[in-house]
Amino acid sequence: MRDKIVAGNWKMHKTLEEGKILASEVVNIVTDEVNSDAKVILGTPFVHLDSVSKLIKDSANVFIAAQNCSEHEQGAYTGEISAAMLASMGVDYVILGHSERREYFNESNEQLAAKVDKVYEHGMIPIFCCGEALDIREAGTEVDFVCQQLTESIFHLSNEQFEKIVIAYEPIWAIGTGRTASSEQAQEMHDAIRKHLASKYGQEIADKVSILYGGSCKPSNAKEIFAGKDVDGGLIGGASLVARDFVDIVKSF
Ligand code: PEP
Repeated sequence: MRDKIVAGNWKMHKTLEEGKILASEVVNIVTDEVNSDAKVILGTPFVHLDSVSKLIKDSANVFIAAQNCSEHEQGAYTGEISAAMLASMGVDYVILGHSERREYFNESNEQLAAKVDKVYEHGMIPIFCCGEALDIREAGTEVDFVCQQLTESIFHLSNEQFEKIVIAYEPIWAIGTGRTASSEQAQEMHDAIRKHLASKYGQEIADKVSILYGGSCKPSNAKEIFAGKDVDGGLIGGASLVARDFVDIVKSF
C-alpha cells in the first residue's frame, strides 16, 4: 500500500571519486541481491548528484536525493542551491529539515515550509525530517513537539501534494549516537504521526504516506525497527557510507 524506502544520508562525507565508488557498489549489490520492490535513495552531497544520477539511471528502484535546497527561486544568494537546479540534474527527492540543518543553520519550521513548496514546484518530493531532542523526550512532550513541526511546515500542502511526501522521524538523541529508539518507541511515534496526518488529511491520505525512522539504524537492528506497522523504512546516516551495510538494511524488510 505504501512505498517501503531506505534512504541514505551521506551528509558531508566522501570525495567525488569515493562517492562514485560507493554509489556503484550500492547499485551492483542492489541489482544482485534485492528482490523486494523497496525504493533505495542515495542522499549525496550536491557536487556528487550529477555523477551519481548517471550511475543509477538503469536501476529502476534506485533514486537520488539532495540534502537541502534554497527556499528562494533564484537570485543573489551566494553559495545556495535552488530547487530548479536540482530538478535540472535529475534529482528525485530532497531531504529537508534534518536536525543538523535546524541546529547548525537555524532552519525554522516556517523557512522549511517555503523549502517544501519549492521542491514541489520543481516536481521533486521532500523527505521531511522531524524529531525531538532528549530534553523534550524526558519531559514527555515529544509527540506534541513533532506534531507541531509537521503542522507548521507541511500542513499547508494540498491533498495531491501531501500524499506524495515522505516523512522521516529522527529522534535527535539517536542520531549518530549509537543509541537507537526501541522498536516500540519508533512504532509509537510513527503511529502518533500518522494519526496527526489523518486528523488533517483523512485516513486514506495518511495511509499513503511513508514514514521512515532514522537514528543509529544498522543491519543488526533494522529488521526489528522496520517490523513496526507504521514504520515504512529508514533514513540512514553512518551505515549508508558502507555499501554492504546499507544494502543489508534494504534487505531487512
Ligand atoms: C541521519 O543523520 O539522518 C541519521 C539517521 O544518522 P545515523 O544513522 O548515523 O544516526
